Amino acid sequence: MVCGSDPSPSAPEPQAMHARSLTLPTLLCVTALAVAIARPVSAADPIRLRVDLTDATRRIVHARLEIPVHPGEIRLFYPKWIPGEHGPTGPIENLAGLTVSANGKPLPWKRDTVEMYAIRVPVPDGTGKLDVSLDFLFSGSVEGFTFGASSSSDLAVLNWNQVLLYPTGIPLEALIYEASLKLPAGWEYGTALPVARESGGWIEFKPAPLVTLIDSPVNAGRFFRTVALAPEVVPRHLLHLAGDSREAVDIPREDEEHYSRLVRESLALFGAHHYREYHFLYTLSDHVPFFGLEHHESSDNRGKERSLIDDDQKLRMADLLSHEFAHSWNGKYRRPKDLATPNYEAPMETDLLWVYEGLTQYLGWILAARSGLLNPEQARDYLAETAADLDNEPGRTWRPLLDTAISAQFLYGAERSWSGWRRGVDFYDESLLFWLEADAIIRAESKGSRSLDDFCRLFHGGESGPPTVKPYTFEDVAATMNEVQPYDWRAFFTERVEKVRPRAPLGGITRGGWKLTYADSASAYRKSLEKARKRSDFRYSVGLYLNDEGEVLDALPKTPAAQAGISPGMRLIAVNGKQWTEDVLREAIRAAARSKAAIEILAKNGDFYATYKVGYSGGERYPKLVRVEGSVDLLSQDLTPLVPAGSGTKH
Ligand SMILES: [Zn+2]
Repeated sequence: MVCGSDPSPSAPEPQAMHARSLTLPTLLCVTALAVAIARPVSAADPIRLRVDLTDATRRIVHARLEIPVHPGEIRLFYPKWIPGEHGPTGPIENLAGLTVSANGKPLPWKRDTVEMYAIRVPVPDGTGKLDVSLDFLFSGSVEGFTFGASSSSDLAVLNWNQVLLYPTGIPLEALIYEASLKLPAGWEYGTALPVARESGGWIEFKPAPLVTLIDSPVNAGRFFRTVALAPEVVPRHLLHLAGDSREAVDIPREDEEHYSRLVRESLALFGAHHYREYHFLYTLSDHVPFFGLEHHESSDNRGKERSLIDDDQKLRMADLLSHEFAHSWNGKYRRPKDLATPNYEAPMETDLLWVYEGLTQYLGWILAARSGLLNPEQARDYLAETAADLDNEPGRTWRPLLDTAISAQFLYGAERSWSGWRRGVDFYDESLLFWLEADAIIRAESKGSRSLDDFCRLFHGGESGPPTVKPYTFEDVAATMNEVQPYDWRAFFTERVEKVRPRAPLGGITRGGWKLTYADSASAYRKSLEKARKRSDFRYSVGLYLNDEGEVLDALPKTPAAQAGISPGMRLIAVNGKQWTEDVLREAIRAAARSKAAIEILAKNGDFYATYKVGYSGGERYPKLVRVEGSVDLLSQDLTPLVPAGSGTKH
């Protein structure tokens, strides 16, 4: 998953976290209940699910289920732990209009008083199936993952886990769903879920296991285009664009070609694939959150309406699809054992997210560069920003990286303010840095004959075929790294993941022949990113991170602004007596470098105003990588395409 590449990640609204410690009496109670309700349906009979999206533009979805049952009591479950979201984020608060009936007569249902996602229904004698009706209310919030807004007046994204219940007590793989879907008139759609037929305005899908159904979202809309990527490659790779305007989806041929190159580069890297076909769903709207969610055979990518036509937005989104595509191998096919849970009720343990998300962050960046989505200079600027962000993060003096991974389920939802001291979901970007270092070590120790690419081929390749999950442990990662290049990888990762380290792991940059420095002018890459995100970033000079309205999102502890008394939650009003703008603050920083006088900032704190004297005369500072003369440029080798541009590979 990607939740934004903002250095202070745009966090979703905190979700109700239903994890609670079960006391012994509660456990006993649950066990007793399981015995009482052990009357499962026959796994041979599929569950029918009809979803009506014709009201999606009103932000409501109607669904009906027919669930084969035997008399007794049945426990039905609403998916809670959503794969890829790494937390109990199933949006149960948006489930409404739930009714259960059998043979035309309504049946009472009762929610479990401890497990909020479970309901129990008494099934009378003579009942062969339950009819369940429910509505799902699309959120209006442009924050959040799949539980955020998922429709506008011209498009929608459907995640099946939001519109279904499943009976517990049966192995998940034995639950087969026969789904059908109705769209607003004139809409087209994309999905990895195989279609049986279309008739009477309904799309009828082939029967599929519940896990496949939930793993296969649908995007649909009035302005829709499907592009066949790398057409010479078997199996098919399709890009489904749903946008809020015709312009949003009519992208130039050369941009399509970058995504075709992404397919070729990824297959050349891994050497095999683990999907029947691959579908990139890309939804372009200012009314849905920016994020990406991975699946085996598709990805649910969402960005602003102009993500593919505005140059600044395009740069911001450059590594979104490459990240989510890499997850088909790293995250879906190879998955940490404790994230490969048996159902949507069992909690996930997220301590290996530094591999699941961290290696994917590295691969998303490398593949974006190799595909031309980032040019070499942009790819280096991306790395400089990542390195500087982490190297200047004060929270690293108390929270080890591992704790950001274990805490993922609440750090994704943490507020943006104070994120420098708290730390965010740093297991993405910080792991990118040390996977890059691992690559440099392999290249150096093997005298250039091997690289991290060889690890990927060995760990994620194998036989091509349909989706399957091959769980792993830390031991498996270290052992495969040793197969590629003998080294003390266990110590290497333990040191970087488990220890508190005041400095970021910059060894990949220095071993790669480059050095992190600070320049007095910002790169074009940084200017684009700030414009796309509507942020002003002065963290490496006075220590402030602001939105475009002057609100202080962060004031890094021990920096001049924080020492002067400015804190997150305040709003800048004026700088040296002049109305605040980004340029006014920048000019004041430049002037202070010459005059050595304190910068006077008038800020609003709630209803109160105060002036803060920021003693800083170091001038502007923006991260930049510079070459170390005489060293081998391993970094550039890393960014070099495996497949020559303009050529396709048969696979
Ligand atoms: Zn991810």
